[in-house]
Amino acid sequence: MSDRYDRQERIPNWKQTALNDSYIAIVGSGPLAQSLGAVLAGLGIGNLRIYDNEILKKHSAQDFLCFEAKEGEKKAEAVKGLISKINPQINVDMINWKFLRHYFAEAVIGKPNAIVDCTNDPFQELILFCYGQAHNIPVINGASKKYDCLLSVKLPDKNFAVPEDFYLDSVTLEKVTRLIPESYLSIDYYNREQDGLTSLVCSGLIADEVRKIVMPLNEDEKPLQGSLNYSLLSQDRFSLNSLPTKEAGKMEYSKNKVVYVIGAGSIGNIVGLGLAVEGIKELVIFDDDTAEEVNLNRQILLYEGVGQPKATTLAKKLRQINPNINVEAVVGKFTPKTDYGKKPDLVMACTDSFKSRKIVNDYAKKYGIPIISGGTDFDSGQVISYAPGRSTCLNCQIGIDKAAEQEAQVEGCATAPEPSVIVSNWIIGSLMVAEASTVLNKDNPTINGRTVYDSKENRRLRVVKLEKNCQCHEEGKK
Ligand SMILES: [Zn+2]
Repeated sequence: MSDRYDRQERIPNWKQTALNDSYIAIVGSGPLAQSLGAVLAGLGIGNLRIYDNEILKKHSAQDFLCFEAKEGEKKAEAVKGLISKINPQINVDMINWKFLRHYFAEAVIGKPNAIVDCTNDPFQELILFCYGQAHNIPVINGASKKYDCLLSVKLPDKNFAVPEDFYLDSVTLEKVTRLIPESYLSIDYYNREQDGLTSLVCSGLIADEVRKIVMPLNEDEKPLQGSLNYSLLSQDRFSLNSLPTKEAGKMEYSKNKVVYVIGAGSIGNIVGLGLAVEGIKELVIFDDDTAEEVNLNRQILLYEGVGQPKATTLAKKLRQINPNINVEAVVGKFTPKTDYGKKPDLVMACTDSFKSRKIVNDYAKKYGIPIISGGTDFDSGQVISYAPGRSTCLNCQIGIDKAAEQEAQVEGCATAPEPSVIVSNWIIGSLMVAEASTVLNKDNPTINGRTVYDSKENRRLRVVKLEKNCQCHEEGKK
């Protein structure tokens, strides 16, 4: 086993061989399937099969794994090619097949550890659900559209009676909703275009459920029971087994912005990807580090950059993914006193040090620039967005100043590398980009508080809101 899996094998009870031996079937080849393929490749799922025959009509940042493909090529083929580069140790295959009916599914899917439907099509979902029930295979359903995504897990259930006539071509929407609770299915997503950004959010969450199915870390760890819904238009953002209420208006904002990405590591890779998919006009990426093989499973866009500066390689890939944006790399640490030419409209803090988060927080207070900060553990993480004057700063939320002080005291001591895995970084990084819309337009409602992800919690995600804004911005100006 190479160094690739080193950081995740440091996680207690982690069994990489179980993941390497597994086979996951992905149905669909749109943004959600592409994003899922990338994150599962990072995780080290040994065998992936992508079922679809859709053709890439025109290059778009939404189809972000197809950036090396030719127009007219099959998307699944392009995804297969890129996944093989991201992680050459996995077997990835594409099956040229659209809409799997039950009798075809039997012949072509076989018995994977799990099937993931990424089609936004409730009819396909029902067929796969029934196939899973009949063959004792867990089925995960994912769907995405602008602002929203959904995932649901259906484990084999002895009490689920696969209907006789299901084997015939007689699936109707009425029958679909009679057989499976509506909250499991992507009825609201039917015939809607998949969204790149919410696909990133959804695929990270799906990957966590796949990992729990294939390799639970302990007896208590169970895949999601039911469905998890995300909506950027709801102040609660997440809801379990029901649709989130839509409270906010549109979360639109001008893409003509300058965003600094501090850190091109595990979170920085996915944040950069999300911003490129969103089409933010100007990105500046800061990192003083060099990519190593041991990083590649989390920092999936650095696969051609071992030995080279992370910032440069990430910037190059983002330019390829979205040629309509400008991406600059700064090989070095971000320092508030340096003039980088373009003043940022937003700073994304993607580092794991409190010191650099403090620098960014002080910068935000002083210049009134919004920041979004993300932090992860191997099975949890959080997103904090701070819009000076409109919400609470990092120090008032999580005591960043003191943490930076304590960090400085232990600096220089030899410490073992922290366990880390792509999944939590993927979830937190994509949620950070989603929150960008709340601070890049002053008219959009922000969340004053934190978005917390915890893989051990039944509901997985929640928002911890604060009652009052802090006034540090006023003091910071002095
Ligand atoms: Zn404050």
